[in-house]
Parts: sequence; structure tokens; C-alpha cells
Amino acid sequence: MILIVVEHAAGEPRRSALELVSVGRSLAQASGAPLAALVLAGAGTGGTGGALGAEAVAERMASFVPDVHVVEHEVLEPPRAETMTRALAHAATTLGASVLLLPASRLGLSCGPRVALRLGGSLLEDVTSVAFEDGAVVATRPAFLARVSVTVVAEAEPVVVSVELGAPPRASPLGGAGGVHRLEVPFEARDERLQSLSRRALAKERVALDEAEVVVCGGRGLGSAEAFERHVLRLAERLGAGVGATRAVVDVGWRSYAEQIGQTGTTVAPRLFVALGVSGAVQHVSGMNRSGVIVAVNTDADAPIFRISDYCVVGDVNEVVPALDEALAGIG
Ligand SMILES: Cc1cc2nc3c(=O)[nH]c(=O)nc-3n(C[C@H](O)[C@H](O)[C@H](O)COP(=O)(O)OP(=O)(O)OC[C@H]3O[C@@H](n4cnc5c(N)ncnc54)[C@H](O)[C@@H]3O)c2cc1C
Repeated sequence: MILIVVEHAAGEPRRSALELVSVGRSLAQASGAPLAALVLAGAGTGGTGGALGAEAVAERMASFVPDVHVVEHEVLEPPRAETMTRALAHAATTLGASVLLLPASRLGLSCGPRVALRLGGSLLEDVTSVAFEDGAVVATRPAFLARVSVTVVAEAEPVVVSVELGAPPRASPLGGAGGVHRLEVPFEARDERLQSLSRRALAKERVALDEAEVVVCGGRGLGSAEAFERHVLRLAERLGAGVGATRAVVDVGWRSYAEQIGQTGTTVAPRLFVALGVSGAVQHVSGMNRSGVIVAVNTDADAPIFRISDYCVVGDVNEVVPALDEALAGIG
């Protein structure tokens, strides 16, 4: 079986799930193995991963794959690597998965190695394409800051694969509705080494960065945390965009790490990426170079970001962004 792990929020599968369906379908077609999806959620919490969420997500996924398996348990909310790993490993074994497809998100990157090790399988991490060749699972992954493409072959089953966001296309739904099945996982006391005592939102809910169709990203060229708020946050709000930052901005404490884009941050692949005062260092570019259209504003006409940009504005963010904002306000 080819088993897709579905990330979800607010009762909706995330974009990565639909991308994994594309990969799963081609692997299933090439190998003749059945295709199924796995939804993990906390039971009875009513939150984003809660009971209502799980049901809605499973029903939605059932229009993409023939079978959806749902694990609901209170220890899965909030999600933690130990409990998720137990659930993933148990599901993969019970369902007889030969390939387990995960998004290369925090979930995939923290649980993928654990599951592969626990099951004595192989791990293909951060891949951009995956296929069956002569009976083996073969994948390509970028290396050395995406300057080199490496081909990797799995030598043991099950094969745990984490796929980069934006690499495969999003799948379309099938005509009919697949089956939804409950799966019980025997969690153990030692799976729960952490307890959440309380949860509170620290920031106003914004568009999730790795899901966003539009990203506005600010760099050190903005000059201050206040200017970041004035320019990046305002433009992001107007465009309904996710907010991103460079590591330089995170290191000086203007923004939190959750917004960092790049090699050591989040990978994004929006339709539109707006870079304000960003130099375009390789470590940053490796996290955003799959964006559709890239617009950059920079005072330095030789800034490396312009080499990968579709629209290059040589100018000061303090002049260009207010003018852009005004123009957009005129459009409505
Ligand atoms: C191991 C490693 C991992 C790393 N991982 C990451 C990562 O994940 N993400 C990441 O972003 N970086 C990462 N970095 C850091 C990276 O190398 C760069 O230092 C960083 O991306 C630079 O951020 P910046 O573009 O904001 O700043 P700078 O390089 O300082 O660039 C600022 C830019 O703003 C322009 N500018 C200045 N004033 C204005 C103005 N008024 N209007 C318009 N433009 C202006 C300048 O011309 C310049 O191009 C990593 C580095 C290492 C060594």
C-alpha cells in the first residue's frame, strides 16, 4: 500500500495533502499497490485537530483516494513527535504500507526518521520527485543549497518519503467517494513524556506561511522592527498574504523564527512572493525559489534577489511600498 499522511487545519486538508495525492497516485499506478490516506487527530477536543475536524478532513480526502484511515485519540492533540510516531508506525505496519508519504514539514522532518528507524525501513528526505524504477523507490532531492540534484534509492521497506512543499502539483478529486475507516492505536504511557498545561495564542491569526498563495517577506533592508510592521504587515494584510522574514531579521529579534524562510526555516511555494529589502542569499533563496512570480524591491541594482525575480524594482522600500499600497487601495 502507498499511504499518504494528511496534514490538516480547521477541518480542511492542507495543501501538502493534495500534493502528496499526486505523488501517491503515480506510485500506486506504477506499482499496482492500493492508495490510501491517513488522518491523525486529537479526539473530542473540537479544535483544529479535534473530532469534528477529523471527520470533515476524512470526508474531503475520500474524494481523492479510495480509502481513508482515521486515528483519533486525545494524546494526538497537541501533536507531538512521540505520539505521532507511534500512530504512524502502527498504521504503516497494520495497513501494510510499503511507502509512507509525508510532507517535508515539521511533522515529516521530525517523525519521518523516527518511523523509518522504528520499522527498519528507508528514509528519503526532502525529495522533489519520487518514482518506482526496476521495483525500487527512487527519488531526487536538492543538495548543496539546491545547486545539485541527487538521486537516492531506497534499499529497505517500508520506504518513508518526505516530499517538499510545492514540488508536486495538487491533485484533483476523483468522481466518487472512498471509504472511511477507524483505526485504533495502542498508545503507551511512555509516549506521553510532555504534558501541555495551557495554550494561548500569542499572535493574531494570520495566513499560514507554508499554505499561503501570496507571501510578503521582509529583510534587513527595512531597517527596523517598526518599518517591518509598517511595510510588510500592511502589504500582507492588503494582499491576504502570509508574512515571511529573512534570518537576519529573525536574528536581530524583529520577527519570530516561525516566520523565517530559507534553508534553516520554512520552505514556501506561493503563486506570488514579494521580497522587500531582501538581498537574496543562497540560504534564503533555497526556501522560496519554487514561488510562481517573484517581485523584489531593493536599493541595490546588483542584489542577488534580482537574478531570480520576475519583477525587479530598484528603489527604497520606504518610497516604493507606500506607493504600491496606495495603488492597491485604488484597485479596491
Ligand atoms: C548555515 C546558514 C543557514 C542560513 N539559513 C538562512 C535561512 O534559512 N533564511 C535566511 O533568510 N537566511 C539564512 N542564512 C543567512 C543568509 O546567509 C543571509 O545572511 C540572510 O538571508 C540575509 O538577510 P537579508 O537579506 O535580510 O539581509 P542583508 O543581506 O543584509 O540584505 C539586506 C538587503 O536590503 C537592501 N536594502 C537596504 N536598504 C534598503 C531600502 N531602504 N530599501 C530597499 N532595499 C534595501 C540591501 O541592498 C540588501 O540587499 C543562513 C546562513 C547560514 C550560514
